[in-house]
Amino acid sequence: MAKVIIVGAGGVGNVVAHKCAQQSEVFDDILLASRTVSKCDAIAKDVFDKQGVKIRTVALDADDVAATTALLKAEQPLLLINVALPYQDLVLMDACLAAGVHYLDTANYEPLDEAKFEYKWQWAYRERFKKAGLTAVLGSGFDPGVTNVFCAYALKHHFDQIETIDILDANAGDHGYPFATNFNPEINIREITQDGRYWEGGEWKTIPALSIKQVYDFPEVGPKDAYLLYHEELESLCQNIPGLKRIRFWMTFSPQYLTHLMVLENVGMTSIKPININGQPIAPIEFLKAVLPDPASLGPRTKGKTCIGCDIVGSKGGQRKRIFIFNTCDHEACYAEVSSQAISYTTGVPAMIGAMQIVKGNWREAGVWNMEQLDPDAFMEALEHYGLPWKIIDLPVAEQLD
Ligand code: NDP
Repeated sequence: MAKVIIVGAGGVGNVVAHKCAQQSEVFDDILLASRTVSKCDAIAKDVFDKQGVKIRTVALDADDVAATTALLKAEQPLLLINVALPYQDLVLMDACLAAGVHYLDTANYEPLDEAKFEYKWQWAYRERFKKAGLTAVLGSGFDPGVTNVFCAYALKHHFDQIETIDILDANAGDHGYPFATNFNPEINIREITQDGRYWEGGEWKTIPALSIKQVYDFPEVGPKDAYLLYHEELESLCQNIPGLKRIRFWMTFSPQYLTHLMVLENVGMTSIKPININGQPIAPIEFLKAVLPDPASLGPRTKGKTCIGCDIVGSKGGQRKRIFIFNTCDHEACYAEVSSQAISYTTGVPAMIGAMQIVKGNWREAGVWNMEQLDPDAFMEALEHYGLPWKIIDLPVAEQLD
Protein backbone atom coordinates (compact mmCIF):
# COMPACT_ATOMS: atom_id res chain seq x y z
CA MET A 1 0.00 0.00 0.00
CA ALA A 2 1.26 3.45 -0.79
CA LYS A 3 0.56 7.14 -0.69
CA VAL A 4 0.54 8.70 -4.14
CA ILE A 5 0.40 12.30 -5.36
CA ILE A 6 -1.21 13.02 -8.72
CA VAL A 7 -0.20 16.37 -10.28
CA GLY A 8 -2.61 17.78 -12.88
CA ALA A 9 -6.40 17.91 -12.73
CA GLY A 10 -7.28 17.82 -16.43
CA GLY A 11 -8.93 15.05 -18.45
CA VAL A 12 -6.15 12.56 -17.72
CA GLY A 13 -5.78 13.56 -14.04
CA ASN A 14 -9.48 12.85 -13.61
CA VAL A 15 -9.09 9.29 -14.93
CA VAL A 16 -5.96 8.61 -12.87
CA ALA A 17 -7.76 9.80 -9.72
CA HIS A 18 -10.76 7.52 -10.39
CA LYS A 19 -8.64 4.49 -11.30
CA CYS A 20 -6.29 4.86 -8.31
CA ALA A 21 -9.33 5.25 -6.04
CA GLN A 22 -10.77 1.99 -7.45
CA GLN A 23 -7.52 0.27 -6.38
CA SER A 24 -7.52 1.50 -2.79
CA GLU A 25 -5.77 -1.70 -1.62
CA VAL A 26 -2.74 -0.44 -3.61
CA PHE A 27 -3.14 3.35 -3.33
CA ASP A 28 -4.42 3.90 0.20
CA ASP A 29 -3.84 7.67 0.33
CA ILE A 30 -4.37 9.81 -2.80
CA LEU A 31 -3.52 13.50 -2.99
CA LEU A 32 -4.60 15.38 -6.14
CA ALA A 33 -2.58 18.57 -6.70
CA SER A 34 -3.00 21.10 -9.48
CA ARG A 35 -2.77 24.78 -10.30
CA THR A 36 -6.54 25.34 -10.08
CA VAL A 37 -7.66 23.66 -6.89
CA SER A 38 -11.37 23.96 -7.76
CA LYS A 39 -10.75 21.44 -10.58
CA CYS A 40 -9.17 19.05 -8.04
CA ASP A 41 -12.16 19.50 -5.72
CA ALA A 42 -14.66 18.79 -8.52
CA ILE A 43 -12.77 15.58 -9.39
CA ALA A 44 -12.58 14.57 -5.70
CA LYS A 45 -16.36 14.98 -5.41
CA ASP A 46 -16.98 12.85 -8.50
CA VAL A 47 -14.51 10.20 -7.27
CA PHE A 48 -16.38 10.04 -3.97
CA ASP A 49 -19.78 9.86 -5.72
CA LYS A 50 -18.71 7.16 -8.22
CA GLN A 51 -16.05 5.16 -6.35
CA GLY A 52 -17.02 5.84 -2.71
CA VAL A 53 -13.42 6.84 -1.90
CA LYS A 54 -12.24 10.13 -0.38
CA ILE A 55 -9.18 11.70 -1.96
CA ARG A 56 -7.42 14.84 -0.72
CA THR A 57 -6.71 17.93 -2.83
CA VAL A 58 -4.22 20.79 -2.73
CA ALA A 59 -3.33 23.81 -4.89
CA LEU A 60 0.14 23.54 -6.44
CA ASP A 61 2.06 25.46 -9.06
CA ALA A 62 4.42 22.71 -10.25
CA ASP A 63 6.69 25.26 -11.93
CA ASP A 64 7.71 26.33 -8.42
CA VAL A 65 10.24 23.60 -7.57
CA ALA A 66 10.71 24.81 -3.99
CA ALA A 67 6.96 24.70 -3.28
CA THR A 68 6.62 21.24 -4.86
CA THR A 69 9.64 19.95 -2.92
CA ALA A 70 8.20 21.31 0.33
CA LEU A 71 4.84 19.63 -0.38
CA LEU A 72 6.55 16.31 -1.20
CA LYS A 73 8.72 16.48 1.93
CA ALA A 74 5.68 17.21 4.10
CA GLU A 75 3.51 14.49 2.52
CA GLN A 76 6.22 11.88 1.80
CA PRO A 77 4.36 9.99 -0.93
CA LEU A 78 6.06 6.94 -2.45
CA LEU A 79 5.37 8.17 -5.95
CA LEU A 80 4.40 11.25 -7.97
CA ILE A 81 2.23 10.74 -11.06
CA ASN A 82 2.74 13.70 -13.39
CA VAL A 83 -0.32 14.30 -15.56
CA ALA A 84 0.12 18.08 -15.77
CA LEU A 85 1.63 19.26 -19.06
CA PRO A 86 4.93 18.22 -20.72
CA TYR A 87 6.35 21.63 -19.72
CA GLN A 88 6.30 20.49 -16.07
CA ASP A 89 8.31 17.26 -16.53
CA LEU A 90 11.75 18.59 -15.57
CA VAL A 91 10.63 20.72 -12.63
CA LEU A 92 8.68 17.77 -11.21
CA MET A 93 11.67 15.44 -11.71
CA ASP A 94 13.83 17.99 -9.85
CA ALA A 95 11.34 18.11 -6.97
CA CYS A 96 11.15 14.29 -6.81
CA LEU A 97 14.95 14.07 -6.61
CA ALA A 98 15.05 16.73 -3.88
CA ALA A 99 12.37 14.95 -1.82
CA GLY A 100 13.23 11.28 -2.52
CA VAL A 101 10.02 10.38 -4.42
CA HIS A 102 9.63 8.01 -7.41
CA TYR A 103 8.33 9.64 -10.63
CA LEU A 104 6.05 8.66 -13.52
CA ASP A 105 4.66 10.71 -16.43
CA THR A 106 2.75 10.24 -19.70
CA ALA A 107 4.46 12.65 -22.11
CA ASN A 108 8.03 13.75 -22.71
CA TYR A 109 9.41 17.18 -21.95
CA GLU A 110 8.76 19.98 -24.39
CA PRO A 111 10.06 23.54 -23.94
CA LEU A 112 7.29 26.16 -23.90
CA ASP A 113 8.87 28.33 -26.58
CA GLU A 114 9.86 25.61 -29.07
CA ALA A 115 7.58 22.93 -30.56
CA LYS A 116 10.19 20.20 -30.16
CA PHE A 117 9.59 17.31 -27.84
CA GLU A 118 12.58 15.05 -27.23
CA TYR A 119 13.72 12.66 -24.52
CA LYS A 120 17.24 14.08 -24.26
CA TRP A 121 16.33 16.43 -21.43
CA GLN A 122 14.78 13.67 -19.33
CA TRP A 123 17.40 11.04 -20.24
CA ALA A 124 19.97 13.49 -18.83
CA TYR A 125 18.48 12.69 -15.36
CA ARG A 126 19.48 8.98 -15.54
CA GLU A 127 22.56 9.22 -13.31
CA ARG A 128 20.84 11.43 -10.75
CA PHE A 129 17.88 9.04 -10.34
CA LYS A 130 20.26 6.07 -10.20
CA LYS A 131 22.41 7.69 -7.51
CA ALA A 132 19.33 8.66 -5.50
CA GLY A 133 17.99 5.07 -5.70
CA LEU A 134 14.81 6.39 -7.33
CA THR A 135 12.79 5.14 -10.32
CA ALA A 136 11.46 7.42 -13.05
CA VAL A 137 9.13 5.83 -15.63
CA LEU A 138 8.62 7.95 -18.74
CA GLY A 139 5.57 7.95 -20.98
CA SER A 140 3.13 5.65 -19.16
CA GLY A 141 0.06 6.62 -21.20
CA PHE A 142 -1.26 4.75 -24.24
CA ASP A 143 0.99 6.11 -26.95
CA PRO A 144 3.62 6.42 -25.63
CA GLY A 145 3.09 3.81 -22.97
CA VAL A 146 1.00 0.79 -23.84
CA THR A 147 2.38 0.87 -27.41
CA ASN A 148 5.94 0.57 -26.02
CA VAL A 149 4.85 -2.31 -23.77
CA PHE A 150 3.08 -4.02 -26.73
CA CYS A 151 6.44 -3.95 -28.59
CA ALA A 152 8.35 -5.34 -25.58
CA TYR A 153 5.72 -8.06 -25.12
CA ALA A 154 5.76 -8.98 -28.81
CA LEU A 155 9.56 -9.26 -28.72
CA LYS A 156 9.49 -11.35 -25.54
CA HIS A 157 6.75 -13.80 -26.58
CA HIS A 158 6.03 -13.64 -30.33
CA PHE A 159 9.24 -12.87 -32.23
CA ASP A 160 12.92 -13.82 -32.22
CA GLN A 161 13.57 -10.76 -34.35
CA ILE A 162 11.39 -7.73 -35.09
CA GLU A 163 11.94 -6.06 -38.47
CA THR A 164 9.34 -3.30 -38.70
CA ILE A 165 6.83 -1.65 -36.39
CA ASP A 166 3.90 0.53 -37.47
CA ILE A 167 2.03 2.09 -34.56
CA LEU A 168 -1.55 2.95 -35.55
CA ASP A 169 -3.87 5.22 -33.59
CA ALA A 170 -7.51 5.56 -34.67
CA ASN A 171 -10.09 7.63 -32.91
CA ALA A 172 -13.42 6.87 -34.53
CA GLY A 173 -15.29 8.85 -31.88
CA ASP A 174 -17.73 11.63 -32.73
CA HIS A 175 -18.33 14.51 -30.28
CA GLY A 176 -20.67 16.42 -32.57
CA TYR A 177 -18.58 19.63 -32.67
CA PRO A 178 -17.25 20.85 -36.04
CA PHE A 179 -13.73 21.00 -34.50
CA ALA A 180 -12.28 20.12 -31.12
CA THR A 181 -9.16 18.36 -29.91
CA ASN A 182 -9.39 15.28 -27.74
CA PHE A 183 -6.71 16.36 -25.32
CA ASN A 184 -4.90 19.59 -24.54
CA PRO A 185 -5.32 21.57 -27.83
CA GLU A 186 -1.93 23.25 -27.61
CA ILE A 187 -0.03 19.97 -27.23
CA ASN A 188 -2.25 18.18 -29.77
CA ILE A 189 -1.95 20.83 -32.52
CA ARG A 190 1.79 21.27 -31.96
CA GLU A 191 2.18 17.50 -32.45
CA ILE A 192 0.18 17.34 -35.69
CA THR A 193 1.44 20.47 -37.44
CA GLN A 194 5.15 19.66 -37.09
CA ASP A 195 7.01 17.82 -39.89
CA GLY A 196 6.37 14.06 -40.07
CA ARG A 197 9.34 11.87 -39.21
CA TYR A 198 10.07 8.15 -39.17
CA TRP A 199 13.12 5.97 -38.60
CA GLU A 200 14.48 3.62 -41.26
CA GLY A 201 17.83 1.97 -41.89
CA GLY A 202 19.39 3.64 -38.86
CA GLU A 203 18.41 7.20 -39.74
CA TRP A 204 15.53 9.66 -39.40
CA LYS A 205 13.55 10.59 -42.52
CA THR A 206 11.55 13.82 -42.54
CA ILE A 207 8.42 14.54 -44.59
CA PRO A 208 6.15 17.61 -44.75
CA ALA A 209 3.34 17.47 -42.15
CA LEU A 210 0.47 15.11 -43.10
CA SER A 211 1.94 14.39 -46.56
CA ILE A 212 1.83 10.53 -46.40
CA LYS A 213 -1.38 8.62 -45.77
CA GLN A 214 -2.60 5.02 -46.04
CA VAL A 215 -5.97 3.42 -45.48
CA TYR A 216 -5.75 0.94 -42.59
CA ASP A 217 -8.51 -1.51 -41.79
CA PHE A 218 -8.79 -1.26 -37.98
CA PRO A 219 -10.47 -4.15 -36.11
CA GLU A 220 -13.93 -3.13 -34.76
CA VAL A 221 -13.52 0.38 -36.23
CA GLY A 222 -13.12 -0.29 -39.96
CA PRO A 223 -10.99 1.34 -42.69
CA LYS A 224 -9.67 4.83 -41.90
CA ASP A 225 -7.23 7.33 -43.44
CA ALA A 226 -4.08 7.12 -41.32
CA TYR A 227 -1.42 9.86 -41.64
CA LEU A 228 2.27 9.43 -40.89
CA LEU A 229 3.29 11.61 -37.92
CA TYR A 230 6.30 11.87 -35.67
CA HIS A 231 5.43 10.57 -32.22
CA GLU A 232 7.63 10.44 -29.16
CA GLU A 233 7.79 6.65 -28.61
CA LEU A 234 9.67 6.28 -31.92
CA GLU A 235 12.71 7.94 -30.34
CA SER A 236 13.17 5.33 -27.61
CA LEU A 237 11.84 2.26 -29.46
CA CYS A 238 14.31 2.66 -32.35
CA GLN A 239 17.08 2.42 -29.76
CA ASN A 240 15.64 -0.32 -27.56
CA ILE A 241 14.30 -2.91 -30.06
CA PRO A 242 17.46 -4.65 -31.30
CA GLY A 243 17.90 -5.06 -35.05
CA LEU A 244 14.83 -2.95 -35.91
CA LYS A 245 14.81 -1.85 -39.57
CA ARG A 246 11.95 0.66 -39.59
CA ILE A 247 9.46 2.24 -37.18
CA ARG A 248 6.63 4.62 -38.05
CA PHE A 249 3.57 6.14 -36.35
CA TRP A 250 0.18 6.74 -37.99
CA MET A 251 -2.87 8.63 -36.71
CA THR A 252 -6.31 8.87 -38.27
CA PHE A 253 -8.01 12.19 -38.99
CA SER A 254 -11.31 12.93 -40.67
CA PRO A 255 -11.37 15.27 -43.71
CA GLN A 256 -13.43 17.70 -41.59
CA TYR A 257 -10.79 17.83 -38.85
CA LEU A 258 -7.99 18.40 -41.36
CA THR A 259 -9.89 21.14 -43.21
CA HIS A 260 -10.38 23.08 -39.97
CA LEU A 261 -6.76 22.57 -38.99
CA MET A 262 -5.52 23.76 -42.39
CA VAL A 263 -7.59 26.95 -42.18
CA LEU A 264 -6.43 27.66 -38.63
CA GLU A 265 -2.84 27.12 -39.67
CA ASN A 266 -3.16 29.25 -42.80
CA VAL A 267 -4.53 32.21 -40.84
CA GLY A 268 -1.79 31.91 -38.21
CA MET A 269 -3.91 30.63 -35.33
CA THR A 270 -1.66 27.65 -34.57
CA SER A 271 1.50 29.75 -34.08
CA ILE A 272 3.26 29.53 -30.71
CA LYS A 273 4.99 32.90 -31.24
CA PRO A 274 3.30 35.61 -29.11
CA ILE A 275 1.87 38.60 -30.98
CA ASN A 276 1.03 41.97 -29.48
CA ILE A 277 -2.69 42.67 -29.01
CA ASN A 278 -3.49 45.98 -27.29
CA GLY A 279 -0.18 45.82 -25.44
CA GLN A 280 -0.69 42.17 -24.38
CA PRO A 281 1.64 39.47 -25.76
CA ILE A 282 -0.59 36.53 -26.71
CA ALA A 283 0.43 33.31 -28.47
CA PRO A 284 -2.29 32.63 -31.09
CA ILE A 285 -2.42 28.93 -30.15
CA GLU A 286 -3.14 29.84 -26.53
CA PHE A 287 -5.97 32.10 -27.67
CA LEU A 288 -7.26 29.27 -29.87
CA LYS A 289 -7.13 26.91 -26.87
CA ALA A 290 -9.30 29.36 -24.93
CA VAL A 291 -12.02 29.41 -27.61
CA LEU A 292 -12.06 25.68 -28.42
CA PRO A 293 -14.17 23.27 -26.39
CA ASP A 294 -12.40 22.12 -23.22
CA PRO A 295 -11.37 18.47 -23.89
CA ALA A 296 -12.81 17.56 -20.49
CA SER A 297 -16.24 18.71 -21.76
CA LEU A 298 -16.25 16.20 -24.65
CA GLY A 299 -16.86 13.21 -22.40
CA PRO A 300 -20.66 13.28 -22.20
CA ARG A 301 -21.02 13.93 -25.98
CA THR A 302 -18.57 11.46 -27.53
CA LYS A 303 -19.78 8.23 -29.11
CA GLY A 304 -17.80 5.51 -30.93
CA LYS A 305 -14.53 3.72 -30.36
CA THR A 306 -10.78 4.11 -30.38
CA CYS A 307 -8.41 1.45 -31.69
CA ILE A 308 -4.68 1.76 -31.02
CA GLY A 309 -2.12 -0.93 -31.73
CA CYS A 310 1.18 -2.07 -33.20
CA ASP A 311 1.43 -3.80 -36.59
CA ILE A 312 4.66 -5.76 -36.27
CA VAL A 313 6.57 -7.81 -38.87
CA GLY A 314 9.47 -10.09 -37.95
CA SER A 315 10.41 -13.73 -37.58
CA LYS A 316 9.95 -16.57 -35.11
CA GLY A 317 11.59 -20.00 -35.42
CA GLY A 318 12.83 -19.12 -38.90
CA GLN A 319 9.33 -18.17 -40.17
CA ARG A 320 8.39 -14.61 -41.09
CA LYS A 321 5.19 -13.44 -39.40
CA ARG A 322 3.05 -10.36 -38.88
CA ILE A 323 0.76 -9.50 -35.96
CA PHE A 324 -1.47 -6.62 -34.89
CA ILE A 325 -1.60 -6.20 -31.11
CA PHE A 326 -4.25 -3.70 -30.10
CA ASN A 327 -6.93 -2.40 -27.77
CA THR A 328 -10.31 -0.95 -28.66
CA CYS A 329 -12.06 1.31 -26.20
CA ASP A 330 -15.62 2.66 -26.19
CA HIS A 331 -16.07 6.38 -25.41
CA GLU A 332 -19.49 6.03 -23.80
CA ALA A 333 -18.43 3.11 -21.57
CA CYS A 334 -15.46 5.17 -20.34
CA TYR A 335 -17.70 8.10 -19.56
CA ALA A 336 -20.09 5.93 -17.60
CA GLU A 337 -17.23 4.56 -15.49
CA VAL A 338 -15.04 7.61 -14.78
CA SER A 339 -16.75 10.67 -16.38
CA SER A 340 -14.14 10.96 -19.20
CA GLN A 341 -13.97 10.04 -22.88
CA ALA A 342 -11.70 7.28 -24.19
CA ILE A 343 -8.68 9.48 -25.03
CA SER A 344 -8.23 10.51 -21.41
CA TYR A 345 -9.21 6.99 -20.28
CA THR A 346 -6.65 5.21 -22.47
CA THR A 347 -3.98 7.57 -21.06
CA GLY A 348 -5.05 7.57 -17.40
CA VAL A 349 -5.49 3.80 -16.98
CA PRO A 350 -1.89 2.99 -18.07
CA ALA A 351 -0.62 5.78 -15.79
CA MET A 352 -2.36 4.06 -12.87
CA ILE A 353 -1.06 0.63 -13.97
CA GLY A 354 2.52 1.93 -14.36
CA ALA A 355 2.25 3.48 -10.89
CA MET A 356 0.99 0.15 -9.57
CA GLN A 357 4.10 -1.60 -10.97
CA ILE A 358 6.29 0.84 -9.03
CA VAL A 359 4.25 0.44 -5.82
CA LYS A 360 4.33 -3.37 -6.08
CA GLY A 361 8.08 -3.35 -6.72
CA ASN A 362 7.85 -4.90 -10.21
CA TRP A 363 9.41 -1.76 -11.70
CA ARG A 364 11.71 -0.41 -9.01
CA GLU A 365 15.18 -0.43 -10.54
CA ALA A 366 16.79 2.96 -9.94
CA GLY A 367 17.17 5.10 -13.05
CA VAL A 368 15.09 6.72 -15.81
CA TRP A 369 13.25 4.21 -18.00
CA ASN A 370 11.15 4.11 -21.13
CA MET A 371 8.41 1.53 -20.89
CA GLU A 372 9.86 -1.02 -23.33
CA GLN A 373 12.94 -1.33 -21.10
CA LEU A 374 10.81 -2.78 -18.28
CA ASP A 375 9.36 -6.29 -18.02
CA PRO A 376 5.99 -6.17 -19.85
CA ASP A 377 4.17 -9.20 -18.37
CA ALA A 378 2.59 -7.83 -15.18
CA PHE A 379 1.63 -4.60 -16.96
CA MET A 380 -0.04 -6.54 -19.82
CA GLU A 381 -1.96 -8.67 -17.33
CA ALA A 382 -3.10 -5.54 -15.48
CA LEU A 383 -4.41 -3.99 -18.73
CA GLU A 384 -6.82 -6.93 -18.96
CA HIS A 385 -8.07 -6.40 -15.40
CA TYR A 386 -8.31 -2.62 -15.19
CA GLY A 387 -10.20 -1.62 -18.31
CA LEU A 388 -7.97 -1.92 -21.40
CA PRO A 389 -8.16 -5.55 -22.63
CA TRP A 390 -6.02 -6.30 -25.68
CA LYS A 391 -5.97 -8.80 -28.52
CA ILE A 392 -3.43 -10.16 -30.97
CA ILE A 393 -4.41 -11.08 -34.51
CA ASP A 394 -2.22 -12.71 -37.17
CA LEU A 395 -2.06 -10.84 -40.48
CA PRO A 396 -0.64 -11.87 -43.87
CA VAL A 397 3.01 -10.82 -44.22
CA ALA A 398 2.45 -10.37 -47.96
CA GLU A 399 0.00 -7.53 -47.22
CA GLN A 400 2.29 -5.58 -44.87
CA LEU A 401 2.11 -1.78 -45.09
CA ASP A 402 4.16 -0.10 -47.88
P1 NDP B 1 -5.29 19.12 -19.58
O1 NDP B 1 -4.86 20.38 -20.24
O2 NDP B 1 -6.72 18.71 -19.61
O3 NDP B 1 -4.84 19.13 -18.05
C1 NDP B 1 -3.58 19.56 -17.62
C2 NDP B 1 -3.68 19.86 -16.13
O4 NDP B 1 -2.37 20.24 -15.67
C3 NDP B 1 -4.62 21.01 -15.80
O5 NDP B 1 -5.36 20.66 -14.66
C4 NDP B 1 -3.65 22.16 -15.50
O6 NDP B 1 -4.10 23.09 -14.57
C5 NDP B 1 -2.52 21.41 -14.87
N1 NDP B 1 -1.31 22.23 -14.91
C6 NDP B 1 -0.77 22.89 -15.96
N2 NDP B 1 0.31 23.57 -15.57
C7 NDP B 1 0.46 23.34 -14.24
C8 NDP B 1 1.39 23.77 -13.26
N3 NDP B 1 2.39 24.59 -13.57
N4 NDP B 1 1.23 23.34 -11.99
C9 NDP B 1 0.21 22.51 -11.66
N5 NDP B 1 -0.70 22.07 -12.53
C10 NDP B 1 -0.57 22.49 -13.81
O7 NDP B 1 -4.37 17.96 -20.22
P2 NDP B 1 -4.72 16.40 -20.31
O8 NDP B 1 -5.25 15.93 -19.02
O9 NDP B 1 -5.45 16.14 -21.56
O10 NDP B 1 -3.23 15.80 -20.52
C11 NDP B 1 -2.35 15.61 -19.41
C12 NDP B 1 -1.02 15.05 -19.90
O11 NDP B 1 -1.23 13.80 -20.55
C13 NDP B 1 -0.31 15.93 -20.94
O12 NDP B 1 1.07 15.94 -20.64
C14 NDP B 1 -0.55 15.23 -22.25
O13 NDP B 1 0.48 15.48 -23.19
C15 NDP B 1 -0.52 13.78 -21.78
N6 NDP B 1 -1.18 12.83 -22.70
C16 NDP B 1 -0.54 11.66 -22.98
C17 NDP B 1 -1.11 10.74 -23.83
C18 NDP B 1 -0.46 9.41 -24.04
O14 NDP B 1 -1.11 8.51 -24.61
N7 NDP B 1 0.76 9.17 -23.61
C19 NDP B 1 -2.40 11.02 -24.52
C20 NDP B 1 -3.04 12.24 -24.07
C21 NDP B 1 -2.43 13.11 -23.22
P3 NDP B 1 -5.18 24.26 -14.94
O15 NDP B 1 -6.47 23.55 -14.80
O16 NDP B 1 -4.96 25.30 -13.94
O17 NDP B 1 -4.86 24.69 -16.35
